[in-house]
Amino acid sequence: MTSLNAQPNSMARGLPALVQEITTELKPSILPEDLAHWSEDLETRLHRVQQHPEQGLGFIEEQVRQCTLELQRKVVQRAMQAKADAVDECCSCCQTPLIERKRRVPKTIHAYCGAVQLFRTHGWCRKCEQWVFPADAALGLFDHSTASPLVQEMCALLVSKMPCEQAEPVASRVAGIQLSRSTMAREAQRQGERAIQMRQEQTAAPVLAPSPMVPATVGSDQPPKPFTLVIQIDSWNIRERDDWGKTQARQKRGKKIERWHWVYTATCFRLEQRCQKGKRRAFITERSYVATRHGVEPMMKQLHREALRRGLGRAQRVLVVADGGVWIWNAVQDRYAEAVQRLDLFHANAYLWAVANQIHGANTAAARQWVKPLLKQVRRDKVLEVISTLEELKPRLSSAAAKVAATTIEYYRSNQKRMKYVGGKKRGEPVGSGAIESTCRQLQCRMKRCGQFWSIQGDEALLCLEIFWRNEHWQLLFPHLSITSLSNN
Ligand SMILES: [Zn+2]
Repeated sequence: MTSLNAQPNSMARGLPALVQEITTELKPSILPEDLAHWSEDLETRLHRVQQHPEQGLGFIEEQVRQCTLELQRKVVQRAMQAKADAVDECCSCCQTPLIERKRRVPKTIHAYCGAVQLFRTHGWCRKCEQWVFPADAALGLFDHSTASPLVQEMCALLVSKMPCEQAEPVASRVAGIQLSRSTMAREAQRQGERAIQMRQEQTAAPVLAPSPMVPATVGSDQPPKPFTLVIQIDSWNIRERDDWGKTQARQKRGKKIERWHWVYTATCFRLEQRCQKGKRRAFITERSYVATRHGVEPMMKQLHREALRRGLGRAQRVLVVADGGVWIWNAVQDRYAEAVQRLDLFHANAYLWAVANQIHGANTAAARQWVKPLLKQVRRDKVLEVISTLEELKPRLSSAAAKVAATTIEYYRSNQKRMKYVGGKKRGEPVGSGAIESTCRQLQCRMKRCGQFWSIQGDEALLCLEIFWRNEHWQLLFPHLSITSLSNN
């Protein structure tokens, strides 16, 4: 394939270039002396293991891994160089031939198997008015970064899952990657920004065909089965330092420092993909996630995109489950006016519990006894009866208890039409927003650690990476993943 593609350019460049290209192509990526050296080293290492009865399989694995790494590094270096040499000396953006070319400019790359040295051409693009390294773009390398694509991926994955100070030793142990925590953080940030960029393009582009993850109906004569799409929305807050290093100066000027900011989060899935056995927590086999610091509107846009991927346009029924957040219901009304709205039952219950605890003392038997029949009424869609019970009771309550009762009445009044649980239960729908709440908890586990502060760029980048991972968009960022996903199938 390479030779076919290279032909016309070689002609244009003349015979010497053609000869060089052929030599490059014929150059093996692995030399007999490398193999001989590797084999010798391997035998020595394995012999050593044999001599130690206490050294088990772990020692064999580690020795083989260690000694094969150098061989891999050499192969990667040669294959990378061959690929770089075959790249046309044209601008990677507009294909204009470069001028003021400088050849064999070195760059050290941190690959998964160790440091590799790359030599490539550098030149000026008159059209784009920029200096370009065409080989870097072809290899998936970025300016100001020395990480290879596999190392970029590992940094993104590890740092989005754990703090850098943990990611550093984990990367070193698991993958043998020796990178400082600050380098890993920078690399993850870069990948996160790339993910944000991709997400923006995705959100702006129309959804053309249903995604392959939505199973097509077997046989075209069968009508598609009607389904319900469930959407759950929630928010949580994150600790951020908006003005790094300016805290004291701002305080002196009497300016308030905002530390906590909202992360808007949502999930969507088809009802048939939610399995529940008995009273255990429901398990959702396929779902999409959204999380952003950028505000309600961007969240709703991203959610819409994911909902479309899950078949929103063909859904017979759209159900939104959330707590009483006014912003949520406004946004839902705005975008999904036809959707069925449901107030999370556990939030509804919590309001009654607050009244019970206020009247009878927190968590007392009397409180439990008082609240039980009322909870039952809520579950049975009899919220109006609960409201009148509370109304009747209010004049006889202490001022503190009356206040809590009034809050509950108001909350129930404004959510009344969303408190229909009987039909939902019958249809096997969720009555609570547990799915999104557990997502929020999981995200908070990563983002809210002791002493952690985030900048808006930092947390959005990491959130975006995490969501790409969960939504199985990882391959968009790291196309080399297609090799592993193909071999797994
Ligand atoms: Zn250009």
